[in-house]
Amino acid sequence: SDPTCIDGLSVNLAMLSRSLSDRYEQERRMARIYERIVQGLYLDDVLDEIYESFRSIIPYNRIGCALLEDGNTKLTARWGRSDSAMIRLKPGFTAPMAGSSLLEVLESGRPRIIDDLEAYFRDNPCSRSTRLVLAEGVRSSLTCPLVALGAPVGFLFFSSFEPYTYSHRHQDVFVRLAAVVSTLVEKARLFQDLADLNKQLSLARDQLQWQATHDGLTSLLNRSAMWDELVSRTQRATVRGQMIAVLLCDLDRFKLINDTYGHQAGDAVLVEIARRLTEALPAGAMLGRYGGEEFLVVADVEGPAEAAALAESMREIVADSPVHSPPWVFDITISIGLVAGVPTPGQTSADLVRWADIALYQAKDAGRDCVISGAWGS
Ligand code: GH3
Ligand code: MG
Ligand code: MG
Repeated sequence: SDPTCIDGLSVNLAMLSRSLSDRYEQERRMARIYERIVQGLYLDDVLDEIYESFRSIIPYNRIGCALLEDGNTKLTARWGRSDSAMIRLKPGFTAPMAGSSLLEVLESGRPRIIDDLEAYFRDNPCSRSTRLVLAEGVRSSLTCPLVALGAPVGFLFFSSFEPYTYSHRHQDVFVRLAAVVSTLVEKARLFQDLADLNKQLSLARDQLQWQATHDGLTSLLNRSAMWDELVSRTQRATVRGQMIAVLLCDLDRFKLINDTYGHQAGDAVLVEIARRLTEALPAGAMLGRYGGEEFLVVADVEGPAEAAALAESMREIVADSPVHSPPWVFDITISIGLVAGVPTPGQTSADLVRWADIALYQAKDAGRDCVISGAWGS
């Protein structure tokens, strides 16, 4: 083998190793990009690089990589490329290590050459992997154990469509290269683990964030998230001189449902009412669970008429059809206290809700299932 070629390859691999290290650092800093990382990307990069780089030094028509799993009891094909279009031994192919001749390769730590794969298959007719690569046209192979930090991690399989391709002359090259490749594979693997872990953490963080701001029963904004949103919308409307509407919606005689049919029946009603109010909610408006059976709506409106129409549509979507809470069906209504106006700097979110609450009491007094427009600033 040509030593300058090997030196060139070492330089290539060293560069690849360095670029992986750079990317590792980058990943740690940019916690947000991991959503884009797809499973297997980094290991595949390494293996693709190997497929291109080794060409000038070692004869092959196919390279496969398989990694040990589950405490080295299983070997799973992780990657494969071939000059033939047809790959039969595909990534994901798994075989137990028990009874495999690869155990000897692991123990010796040396590459193994099979000169005539058809003859080998006659002696080992149970080898599924041999049958598959024979069908791909492979006739001889060199199998290289991958050992990282003293522990076996898997195998690189170099195969040729010609028998008797590999000589012991090649073995020394493989031993030198395998050490570099093993480290790269292990590094890529650790990197992949880190990326996977980051992804899980990101998902968990999003879930926690959602749980902290949403009501467990109705999935609407919970009371504290709703207040935050209300405060920022009030401030925005004040600064812009924009009119906003605040609607406090309360289920009518809801206690009766609980007392008569049980809390579960009541819960199902609450879920359905939340769904209906969401359906009637204009784009950009906010809906939150204000309390037990009270919901708060905040929306930008052009004028009092739009606010009244919005409140009326919310009342109607509840009253217009019965609510199913198997095995029962209920006629449910809501009362709504509404205020609309342009908030001035002295008026707080709490003020707006207090005015809407006064209007809600008036709606209850007026016989329920109705909307009362309250006074802004009383
Ligand atoms: P009104 O028309 O005056 O509003 O009468 P109401 O019965 O709806 O009002 P009240 O405030 O007396 O009762 C509210 C009931 O809402 C009391 C409580 O049992 C029920 N409730 C509050 N939160 C929940 C909940 O999460 N699930 C269920 N099932 N019921 C709830
Ligand atoms: Mg109430
Ligand atoms: Mg009520």
